[in-house]
Amino acid sequence: AAAGLPANEKENSTRENNVAKIKVVVRKRPLNKKENARKEDDIVTVHNDAYLAVYEPKLKVDLTAYVEKHEFCFDAVLDEYVTNDEVYRNTVEPIIPTIFQRTKATCFAYGQTGSGKTYTMQPLPLRAAEDLVRLLHQPVYRNQRFKLWLSYFEIYGGKLYDLLSDRKKLCMREDGRQQVCIVGLQEFEVLDVHIVKEYIERGNAARSTGSTGANEESSRSHAILQLVVKKHSEVKESRRNNNNNNNDVNESRNGKVVGKISFIDLAGSERGADTTDNDRQTRIEGAEINKSLLALKECIRALDNDQIHIPFRGSKLTEVLRDSFVGNSRTVMISCISPNAGSCEHTLNTLRYADRVK
Ligand code: ADP
Ligand code: MG
Repeated sequence: AAAGLPANEKENSTRENNVAKIKVVVRKRPLNKKENARKEDDIVTVHNDAYLAVYEPKLKVDLTAYVEKHEFCFDAVLDEYVTNDEVYRNTVEPIIPTIFQRTKATCFAYGQTGSGKTYTMQPLPLRAAEDLVRLLHQPVYRNQRFKLWLSYFEIYGGKLYDLLSDRKKLCMREDGRQQVCIVGLQEFEVLDVHIVKEYIERGNAARSTGSTGANEESSRSHAILQLVVKKHSEVKESRRNNNNNNNDVNESRNGKVVGKISFIDLAGSERGADTTDNDRQTRIEGAEINKSLLALKECIRALDNDQIHIPFRGSKLTEVLRDSFVGNSRTVMISCISPNAGSCEHTLNTLRYADRVK
């Protein structure tokens, strides 16, 4: 409905609680040791907090060198001096209070392998859990029997694996109310935020390493950490105390979902191009990644245009996130980019993807 309006009015119409429905943020990492040792040029210049330029080195037919300048504008552009704390304040923090108002939020990290997705995503759930737990204990919510639950799983080759219970294979089901249910997914109650760090580390250690055992295999999977606020009824509460089991899955399901936030460390965007690789398995995974990143873009665009039909059936990733693409939803896309000249093509691809989403 907002699609035809001028930019500023469209922005206003999609704002609730002063939080944009879709926010696209770009984060540039610093040159690393290797790139510095190779004396690679930093070709990305952040001009202000919303605007950046990429200086692409090119050669003319007669081999004279020249530079092509590409300019981009986003909701926020974070340069290499920005800390993880500032990233949190710019992306997730404003969304936290809306979780208690039935919002389903998603925060994605998109970009090529090595661009800083995991570095950026890692600390966010911990900070979010701190803030959510603090809100749970505020007088307004104290008597509502709200509880915070955490789960962590992975999508690899189109299949779901629980990262917090020995990579148990999971399947997805829709209940009658079109809510997504991941059968068998372990949920843990967050009673103390310090435990969140432990869960993150445990889950990361369990991330896919494939047959080669190489860590870079994790760049072919999407890792999804969810923090869910549920409201629990009094009866179930007393039963729960009786059997004294904090991690009882059925008990946690009995709570009614109030809101949630999903943190998604996406597969390396360059992996979507693995479709011509010699290895069959790699080709299949590449095709799946390509499909999911395209479907994700289409879903966010549909969401932004207030379309009734959201094409979430396009991939496992978007199907799993189905209930986060309808109703009260908030999406933050953090596009991570490498600054070195050698990454120019991937960097431009990432920025073009982000540009289509915004
Ligand atoms: P990805 O998950 O996209 O493959 P990583 O998050 O693993 O990339 O980052 C690659 C390397 O760069 C890591 O060693 C990480 O510590 C470092 N790095 C990434 N972003 C930053 C940053 N903003 N500041 C400092 N180091 C960073
Ligand atoms: Mg990573």
